[in-house]
Amino acid sequence: MLVREALAQAMRMLVEADVPSPGLAAELLLMHTLECERGELHSNSGRELSADLALRYFDDVTERLTGKPTQYITGHQEFWGLDFEVSPAVLIPRPETELLVEIVIELARGEPCRMVDAGTGSGCIALALASELSQAAIDAVDISEEALHVARRNAMRLGLAARVRFHCGDWLEPFLRENGEESFDFVVSNPPYVSQAELHSVQREVRDFEPRIAWGGLVDAEEVYRRLFAQAQKLLKPGGFAVVEMGYSQSAAVTKLLRQGWSEISVRADLASIPRAVIARKWTTTGHDATTTSAG
Ligand code: GLN
Repeated sequence: MLVREALAQAMRMLVEADVPSPGLAAELLLMHTLECERGELHSNSGRELSADLALRYFDDVTERLTGKPTQYITGHQEFWGLDFEVSPAVLIPRPETELLVEIVIELARGEPCRMVDAGTGSGCIALALASELSQAAIDAVDISEEALHVARRNAMRLGLAARVRFHCGDWLEPFLRENGEESFDFVVSNPPYVSQAELHSVQREVRDFEPRIAWGGLVDAEEVYRRLFAQAQKLLKPGGFAVVEMGYSQSAAVTKLLRQGWSEISVRADLASIPRAVIARKWTTTGHDATTTSAG
């Protein structure tokens, strides 16, 4: 069987099973089997695929037909131009989350600062920030030891292990326990924000394969934000920033939680024009009213 025939056959199987982005899945899985880049795949499309490789490829394609995300089969996802290892213990990094990284880079302006990524999962946000901000001291927390194992591996593989300190804990508790009040310039997080009411609209790839603790549906999303903002309020220095991702319809509900103790509240949209990140600044002095602006 030729490379191009294998691709076409896989594509037919994926289309028939209604797998989203079947062409991309067929290619990514074959790139994984052949350990090559997309360009090589196409320049070698007339090459013969050995029986052994074909067997391995169609095993992977068959696994994808069950709904298992391509990234859990290949074990990789790119984020911020970096290659992250992923396993079913972590959420697969999403391109829209790069917005959080972009915002923190803009606000930090390369100056020395201390930041924490709450619910780090694969470590993608903390490590992307570490790759850009040489002056920043970066902590990352997750409640799952299994997720932290993946994050630490990623730190090592990316040569950033000395740049990020990983902690196991319930949101920002580890720092509250250590009396870390008013010691951070940034709290950044992509929390689990899919609410129970939205469970029915979640793709099976997410629902059946990604960790529910990471995407939501276990607890009330609003409760998660409330808790996170309350902890951030304690841990941030006056004038420090919370930069937090939210779901497509949550902008009003999330900003409403920022009435007390916050100022310069703004919302930024992702590339699909969906309000995706909220930025809020801890009061520098008491007595201000929360101001809301809309940017980007
Ligand atoms: N911070 C990780 C990410 O953005 C994990 C987020 C999560 O598990 N909710 O992908």
